[in-house]
Amino acid sequence: MAGWSLFSSDIAVDLGTANTLIWAKGRGIVLNEPTIVAFDRTTRHLIALGHEAQAMVGKTHRDIRVVRPLKDGVIADFEIAESMLRAFIRRVSHGLLPPRRVIVCVPVGVTEVEKRAVRDSAEHAGAKDVHLLAEPMAAAIGVGIDVHEPMGNMIVDIGGGTTEIAVIALSGIIVEESIRIAGDEMTNAIIQYFRRQYGMLIGERTAEVIKCQIGSAIPLEEEYEIEVRGRNLVSGIPQMIRVSSEEIRQALEEPIAAIVQAVLSLLERVPPELAADIYDRGIVLTGGGALLKGLDKRLEQATELPVHVAEDPLTAVVRGGGKVLEHFEQYQTVLLKPYRL
Ligand code: ADP
Ligand code: MG
Repeated sequence: MAGWSLFSSDIAVDLGTANTLIWAKGRGIVLNEPTIVAFDRTTRHLIALGHEAQAMVGKTHRDIRVVRPLKDGVIADFEIAESMLRAFIRRVSHGLLPPRRVIVCVPVGVTEVEKRAVRDSAEHAGAKDVHLLAEPMAAAIGVGIDVHEPMGNMIVDIGGGTTEIAVIALSGIIVEESIRIAGDEMTNAIIQYFRRQYGMLIGERTAEVIKCQIGSAIPLEEEYEIEVRGRNLVSGIPQMIRVSSEEIRQALEEPIAAIVQAVLSLLERVPPELAADIYDRGIVLTGGGALLKGLDKRLEQATELPVHVAEDPLTAVVRGGGKVLEHFEQYQTVLLKPYRL
């Protein structure tokens, strides 16, 4: 068939805590799936991956376990994370040869042990030439920033498990901060709110839908109401209640305030020349959390800087990884050094 070759292409992987995306050289984004795995408890064999595994969340029987192997921003379960990465890579290789070069985007806070694990997983999947790229660097490249210039750029990437904040200049990260408060904490705050306020237990998926549909960080021009279904904690019976976006905003206040605080404290550590650049250019928001209504305005109010939400924030990191892959020679300097000396 036309366009097929015996050699599968090199790839860039955004191994996010919530979503895994893969860019194949010359082809663009070829995979975009939740970072979720279902496996057999006894044999540890994979049963389902991505969207298919996500549909099983909260609905499995005792032999099947559904996990998010990267839950807190880092690899929580090495063995499962590795088989997941291998399975995703196999899927985009169409059963042909494995990719030779693989770039994996990792959080800035990643430890040496985790770097090793990511590298090993990619090697076990058949890759010969594995490189790691810090996520905020990938995000900056993905949104079209020229990271090589002597200009400070600030990225706030709000994913599922971590919020990564970094100032980038001259192909490197100047100051960085990674906190384990991001989209998952927001979802969790909504679950806790329902438990406290209404004695009602709601599922993670339900809470996430509420967050995405009516969650906000500042008062909205038009406030919304939605119906939420869950189980009453006392009677045990399924019930339905209506909640407003004001209430959900209140529920989200704690994680949002923590993210705002982390941005402010990183700003304090920015060297003055770069602070001047950021004053002019502002802050760019990436990651799924950037889509929370009013979060950009909330950060603008707190920092008095212009804040821009990246176009298609959920794919910024993988598009950056893809760019590095496509123009590898030009981007050598942005890659993480194999080992810190
Ligand atoms: P990661 O890089 O950790 O995989 P992503 O950048 O893919 O994370 O972002 C996933 C997070 O973004 C999830 O917590 C998800 O609930 C959240 N998210 C996605 N869309 C929205 C939205 N419209 N409003 C608020 N949060 C959102
Ligand atoms: Mg991410």
